[in-house]
Amino acid sequence: MILDSFSLSGKVAIVTGARTGLGQGMAVGLAEAGADLVIVNRTPMPETEDVIKGLGRKCVPIVADLSSLDPIPEIINRTLAEFGKIDILVNNAGIIRRAPSMEFTEKDWDDVINVNLKTVFFLSQAAAREMAKNSGGKIINIASMLSFQGGILVPSYSASKGGIASLTKTLANEWSKHNINVNAIAPGYMATNNTKPIRDDEERNRSILERIPAGRWGLPEDLKGAVVFLASKASDYVNGHILCVDGGWLAR
Ligand code: NAP
Repeated sequence: MILDSFSLSGKVAIVTGARTGLGQGMAVGLAEAGADLVIVNRTPMPETEDVIKGLGRKCVPIVADLSSLDPIPEIINRTLAEFGKIDILVNNAGIIRRAPSMEFTEKDWDDVINVNLKTVFFLSQAAAREMAKNSGGKIINIASMLSFQGGILVPSYSASKGGIASLTKTLANEWSKHNINVNAIAPGYMATNNTKPIRDDEERNRSILERIPAGRWGLPEDLKGAVVFLASKASDYVNGHILCVDGGWLAR
């Protein structure tokens, strides 16, 4: 029956950036759908771990800084040691730096590109090598409205998210023959730490809210349905897609 194809029972998912915000919401959503989790973050994630274990699912936390490629072997090896396979990878960890492009520094460029794009590619590569040895898998990248639009004062962030949209399609083209689906979720304007500065700016906050047809900022739980769909059998014929969860922002 159709609802059975959304179940993630028996599946193993890795979610990066799972301490807070969208990563935490998606990790909990995957656990609610039945998956066991490996959660990765540069700082400890006791709250996320407690919620997942409270749902009766297994949870392995790995504290790792994804601004370099160094932690990738440990993430893959620990997942295999604990669970013997990788079914789902959610590349969520991401950062943003805001400054006028005339003054933007090389460090703010490199820091954002490293976490948001370079590590996403090489962690996907490492996970896909394991998925290809089994029956395939699901890779879900986190894109942005700035995969489609330029944004304001965020040149490295919009470049990274434009890159994520292209990378998602490239990997989908190459890896579907291994039964690996690569898709992305493009969240709209979501209430997390990432957007606190623009929510605190009364003028920006008002102009953003005016454009969202849903009339509110999104919440981490708004991504649960999309991530479970893209992680499950229900989306087996969906590949290279960027699913916008934006309260209608792009339709305006
Ligand atoms: P957030 O609240 O700032 O959370 C980001 C998470 O990633 C945190 O748990 C953070 O850990 C972790 N992280 C950051 N850098 C890391 C690193 N080098 N290594 C390991 N973990 C790292 O942001 P969010 O809004 O949930 O964003 C999650 C993703 O959604 C990002 O890719 C972001 O670009 C994307 N996104 C967000 C929005 C939005 O409106 N919020 C819209 C579109 C796309 P610590 O907090 O412990 O440092």
